[in-house]
Amino acid sequence: MATVYIPTSLRRLTQGSARLASDAADVGALLGWLDEAFPGLGAELFDADGNLHRFVNVYVNNRAIDELQGFETILEREDEVAVIPAISGGQTNGASPASGRFTPQQAVRYSRHIILPEIGGVGQRKLLNAKVVLIGAGGLGSPAALYLAAAGVGTLGVVDFDDVDLSNLHRQIIHGHANVGRPKVESARDRLADINPDTTVVPHTEALTSENAMQILDQYDIVVNGSDNFATRYLVNDAAYLLNKPLVDGAIFRFDGQATVFMPGQGCYRCIFPSPPPPGAVPSCAEAGVLGVLPGMIGVIQATETIKLILGLGHPLVGRWLLYDSLEMEFREIKLQRDPECPLCGDNPTIRALIDYEVFCGAPMAATGG
Ligand SMILES: [Zn+2]
Repeated sequence: MATVYIPTSLRRLTQGSARLASDAADVGALLGWLDEAFPGLGAELFDADGNLHRFVNVYVNNRAIDELQGFETILEREDEVAVIPAISGGQTNGASPASGRFTPQQAVRYSRHIILPEIGGVGQRKLLNAKVVLIGAGGLGSPAALYLAAAGVGTLGVVDFDDVDLSNLHRQIIHGHANVGRPKVESARDRLADINPDTTVVPHTEALTSENAMQILDQYDIVVNGSDNFATRYLVNDAAYLLNKPLVDGAIFRFDGQATVFMPGQGCYRCIFPSPPPPGAVPSCAEAGVLGVLPGMIGVIQATETIKLILGLGHPLVGRWLLYDSLEMEFREIKLQRDPECPLCGDNPTIRALIDYEVFCGAPMAATGG
């Protein structure tokens, strides 16, 4: 005898019973029995064509039947079937990204992901449920955001207070000519909405500061750093560590790029560079120039690492500092280790809260997004 769990919203149709016993041989037979034995219940589960409503999910032992054999899933003794409709507040006209079933359009849009055994429907749902924040909608944030949205990452926060400038367009490919003068977060949101309506873009049209960083970053699972100044870089590093969030880091300068992933407790930016260079010692992209295509390479590496982290796939770029020399077309990988002396993530940390990064770096929080 399998049992069926009936959620509270449907119990009015089962005389209040939360669990029903059934000797049905498979899921299809069990659903058919529910339809016949409990007037009204069938209409809650099936549409006029006899298909399950898109807003109803069926699980066997907490696994979606899509992952099993669907209606043909054999039921054995002590199996528990659960019939779970979207609850009030969810979308009932088509699957929401958070729900377990794909709309027909989603099934097509993500078909090349879903067909990969390493991703499948389960992985695609993880992407749809993931929340990623991009620090900067500039050179690195542009390609990262485009690919993360295309991949179906469900929530993308974008932090940038700057407006699109004509001089941005040779590398910040999320922004178009028509958007010069508009806030970058608005330009980015419009572009991402066109790429994938499944992605909710959360605009943060403000500079990231010690006052707001914890509150903003805490809303997300993963932080992607596309900042172009040391003050913001240290701020993001410290906030991500203090919040215990993975930080997918990237940086560009002239013809060189760098990328790595900092997992809390496995090293941080301060382990490599305990303190910033003196103000003015390292020029910005605005001062020194940058090859326009360069951030594309690094931003796509950041997007790749982010997707891998969401899916738990492969070997992340943790403990490895990837250096890219576009002129030689060379990649170099340097081993990174957590520094026990690190003031943030070391054995005796002295930084336990965010500090004043403009004072620390002797430089202002310039616009993000080089
Ligand atoms: Zn550290």
